Amino acid sequence: MMRQMQLVERVLSYDPKAREDLINKAYVFAVRAHGSQKRASGDPYFSHPVEVAGILTDYRLDTETIVTALLHDTIEDTLATPEQIEREFGPHVAQLVDGVTKLSKMELKSDETQQAENFRKLLLAMSDDIRVLVVKLADRLHNMRTIKYLKPEKARRIALETREIYAPLAERVGMNDIKEELLDLSFQVLDAKAWSSIDQRLEMLRAQAGNLVVRMQLALQETVRGTGLIAEISGREKRHFSIWRKLQAKRITFEQLADVYAFRIIVDNADACYRMLGAIHQRYPMVPDQFDDYISIPKRNGYQSLHTVVLGPEGVRTEIQIRSREMHERAEFGVAAHWHYKAGAKKGSQPDAEQERWLRELLEILHEASDFDEFLENSKLNMYADQVFCFSPKGRLIQLPAGATPVDFAYAVHTDLGDTCVGAKVNGRAAPLHTPLKNGDQIEVLTSSEQTPQAIWEDFVVTGKARSAIRRTTRLLVRAEHVELGRRLLDTTFQAARRRPTEKSMLSLLEPLRLEGLDDLYHGVGTGTISSRDVLGMLYPSERARRRSRAKPKTRVATDAVPVRGLTPGVGVNFATCCHPIPGDRIVGINDAGKGIHVHAIDCGNLELYQDVPERWLDAAWTGDAAASQNYVARIEAEIANRRGMLSRTTTVIAEQDGNIANIATSRRTDDFFRMVIDIEVRDVHHLADIIGALSGEPGMSRVERVRG
Ligand code: MN
Repeated sequence: MMRQMQLVERVLSYDPKAREDLINKAYVFAVRAHGSQKRASGDPYFSHPVEVAGILTDYRLDTETIVTALLHDTIEDTLATPEQIEREFGPHVAQLVDGVTKLSKMELKSDETQQAENFRKLLLAMSDDIRVLVVKLADRLHNMRTIKYLKPEKARRIALETREIYAPLAERVGMNDIKEELLDLSFQVLDAKAWSSIDQRLEMLRAQAGNLVVRMQLALQETVRGTGLIAEISGREKRHFSIWRKLQAKRITFEQLADVYAFRIIVDNADACYRMLGAIHQRYPMVPDQFDDYISIPKRNGYQSLHTVVLGPEGVRTEIQIRSREMHERAEFGVAAHWHYKAGAKKGSQPDAEQERWLRELLEILHEASDFDEFLENSKLNMYADQVFCFSPKGRLIQLPAGATPVDFAYAVHTDLGDTCVGAKVNGRAAPLHTPLKNGDQIEVLTSSEQTPQAIWEDFVVTGKARSAIRRTTRLLVRAEHVELGRRLLDTTFQAARRRPTEKSMLSLLEPLRLEGLDDLYHGVGTGTISSRDVLGMLYPSERARRRSRAKPKTRVATDAVPVRGLTPGVGVNFATCCHPIPGDRIVGINDAGKGIHVHAIDCGNLELYQDVPERWLDAAWTGDAAASQNYVARIEAEIANRRGMLSRTTTVIAEQDGNIANIATSRRTDDFFRMVIDIEVRDVHHLADIIGALSGEPGMSRVERVRG
């Protein structure tokens, strides 16, 4: 294990301005916090964070990252608190440690590998500072290096997660060496047989060939010397995993596989790369179809190098990679180079234009469409900031747009789940359906078979799927209500006329009205586009004739029982439809030359029309039994919440108060409410007041008032 002083010296070697005091403090903090805890290997626990910090010094990371590495397991595994860390190490380190802690809580289960892509996005979304991910990768690397101490089942889960999640993430952020080692270590766990068969072959090869890597390297050095170029050569056996991958991809046996060795030649610049390639190809025959020029066409994550396979020293096939120092560091450091170059800049050596271009490209891949300067400024990983990733109780990962709520989540899982949801638990706690979800939240949707989508949900859902499902069902429900209302209105109208039309005669109306079915007819009546009295008139033309002579047959005053005093018996009397007077209102009669007498309420606006003809005004008053003798139509207007059940509730309340709806129409409709105009048959103003009072007392009903005209 690396000692405190060694760690500090390594950081100071690449960053002389590193905060030595903070690193020392974090080292001591971690040792104290982890106390006597042990790793599965039997080592003291604190050796782990120290090793993780050590890995990160290879990438020349800054003080905050090294301190974060030392503290990364203290929140989860010790008594240390986030507040304590913030107090001791400041808000930046506290945030970084918090970020790593959150990532560590995310586990991929073995039956979820098909969700790996989403999982990777989740981890990136949660690493709002890329250093969080870099620490997590180093953490995982050290855990994989010591995985043999874990129980097989746990080791498998972690290895699978490493292969599916962390190795691709390491590649994504350009840390190729970490990626390769992670893949190799997980291969060893997940396919132990294959790993050991490769291992045995390598052993045999070593036994046969002796120290071949060293001999080949010496031979290559000779060739390189001849070029006069400054170069650094390193050689190695390929990793088990990469040998295995090649065997699989090419469907060949180990004996057929020749290039078990790989050499890397690092030179000054791109020009030297091509000159070196020329020298190698002149000395050793190249194997056809094995040459790749990633300098001219870099890989997506910015990787640059020349790759060739030659029949090398001692006639052994070998892969040779040739790249410049910069290209090499990019390939090794990936996104960590950002801090590396920042540290370099402090010392006065600006990153060159080439480095900057590469870094920009890499970060753009990470960050996609976002602005590079902004990225560098706050080094945030915002690429999934517009998304949120949540889990079902069974661990299924659901990707949603930012701002999504439990209702969106429910619809994303299944339409039925959305339609019937009545509540939700977020991380085990009851939460309102409009709660915006956060990354990593676990959502349990509570359902009821009684539930139907609520129009009000539309105010807070953000997914198209939820929105359209809610609209579709609420539209259907509202329609069903209008149909029911229309049916009732027609029944009332028919009963009043003592008519009972057959279904066949009703069906005969559809064609002239250009309707598809009876429900359309009821719907028309329910929404007020078709008058129930017109329907009556169409079925029974005699009713129409009666109606034509008397604006409202039912409310028409029989001449032999005029409830209004002061009028000449025998003269047709109508109650004005502009103001709908009812007993209790102060009234006046207007002699409407030839059309009989119209009774208006004294405050009816239309009376102004008669200002200049006082001779046509007739004093009038209700008789004492006016209320008992018949019903009068009064008009009210009400705002009714656009919720399921409200329309039928309205008609029920009116019926309970012994009122009868003569007509109903929607005067305005928004997402939130209907404004309805309802004509109600009532006895008098007291009866009307009772109805208005009852309606006003209903939840969802507002501004219920009598209107004139
Ligand atoms: Mn750890």
